[in-house]
Amino acid sequence: MSDYILKNYINGQWRTIEATEYYKVNNPANLEVLAEIPWNYDFSIINTAIDTAYNSFRSWAKLSVYERAEFCERLKKLILDNKDEFAKTITLESGKIIKEAESEVFYSCDYISTYIAEAKSLRGETIPSHIEEKRILAVRQPLGVIAAITPWNFPLAMLIRKIIPALLVGCTTIVKPSEETPITAYKLFELIDKIKFPAGIANLVFGNPQPIGMIFCDNEKIVKVSFTGSVDVGKILMKNSSNTVKKLTLELGGNAPFIVYEDANLQDALDGLIRCKFRNAGQTCISANRIFLHNKIYDDFLNKLITTMKQLKVGNGLDPNNNVGPLINEQALHKLEGLITDAIQKGAKLLLGGKSLKEKLGGYFFEPTLLVDVTSDMKIWNEEIFGPVAVIRKFESDEVIDLANNTKYGLAAYIFTQNISRAIKASESLECGIVGINDSTPSATQAPFGGIKQTGFGREGGKYALEEFTYLKYLSFKI
Ligand code: ADP
Repeated sequence: MSDYILKNYINGQWRTIEATEYYKVNNPANLEVLAEIPWNYDFSIINTAIDTAYNSFRSWAKLSVYERAEFCERLKKLILDNKDEFAKTITLESGKIIKEAESEVFYSCDYISTYIAEAKSLRGETIPSHIEEKRILAVRQPLGVIAAITPWNFPLAMLIRKIIPALLVGCTTIVKPSEETPITAYKLFELIDKIKFPAGIANLVFGNPQPIGMIFCDNEKIVKVSFTGSVDVGKILMKNSSNTVKKLTLELGGNAPFIVYEDANLQDALDGLIRCKFRNAGQTCISANRIFLHNKIYDDFLNKLITTMKQLKVGNGLDPNNNVGPLINEQALHKLEGLITDAIQKGAKLLLGGKSLKEKLGGYFFEPTLLVDVTSDMKIWNEEIFGPVAVIRKFESDEVIDLANNTKYGLAAYIFTQNISRAIKASESLECGIVGINDSTPSATQAPFGGIKQTGFGREGGKYALEEFTYLKYLSFKI
């Protein structure tokens, strides 16, 4: 990286910001400061960035999708040429294990390939007319200027997942990445700059999210905000967007049930749970949050889980021998401690872990933790855990589906069973956008990722994401 203080990228140019306050970007594995971003500054420049996106919209939208795809293809190639640097940057600023960071780089490139293929086959329709001398066509049009606000847990994939489909259909963009992981975004925009995408179509701004989010919501030139993050912030954006009646895509997290029936292949379920619970130290929106074990397999599964969890190695993600990296920040450590204390006070039993490893390892590490006898009145049951903490509850029959649905979230759910009719019935009854059936890693770039209830609305991935950045216009011809 060429700069210690990151610059905004507006209208095809890097802009140094004179800020009154800067935010330090930490490596969560050792608390080393990696960079700083401007935090509070004269935010009128955000409106300038929106203006440039607005002014470049028509000419970008006029290009053929093949021309727009060509830019995206070149970007993908450059990301792949720099894949090691991207992976290392992701690990340094987010803490995730290097192998997972490498997968994220490939996953991001796969998104670009999928979106390009889908964009080239995105279609409208002809609609039969009720009058002989009329013809009706419905065509898809790009919405306009899109604002994207992204989280820190997938610093590259979340950016790509939002801006590439928007750009491919002809929208222009302004992005505010998470303050915890801005360097990956910076590097992506260095490549965007290298390719010479037309000026203004992709803009990058850093800083205090509250005023910037407010400007995004207030500015009439932005037609849509695409956001992945917390429910609280999603609600603020929804409320603030009502003045200008903006479209929104909101992905606000999950509280995924992971149900292991008595007829499951237990080894598959165990392997799946370990991946689903401990990937990214449990900090993904689709991480297993509430684990339901059938009473017939409870003891056997729990013993195997304890043995496997004891083998997990916590440490710096750059060391390929480690499997669980740090949490993102101090707040996340405190949150876990609070959730665990509350659960124990209300009767949960702690079988493994339970403590911060910050003193011992010098970063925001937390012990892989196992809690059993967890009940619905505990905070840990109701909140998104976002950490390497497995919470277990025993079940006996179909009441498990009601228990699983008893949450404000509706993103992912997992069921492990060999019984096909049970799998179908359960997956149809679960209130969520994604069900993994004997599958703990359901993400696929061509599939419609997203949820229901307070997880939000809108879908990302495949043609679904592209459609979200277009509107239907119908043309009525009198001939
Ligand atoms: P998390 O708690 O997982 O970090 P947040 O919802 O706080 O989730 O953050 C996700 C993204 O939302 C980040 O880019 C963050 O900067 C941004 N953000 C936080 N607060 C606001 C806000 N009030 N308005 C707009 N964006 C916000």
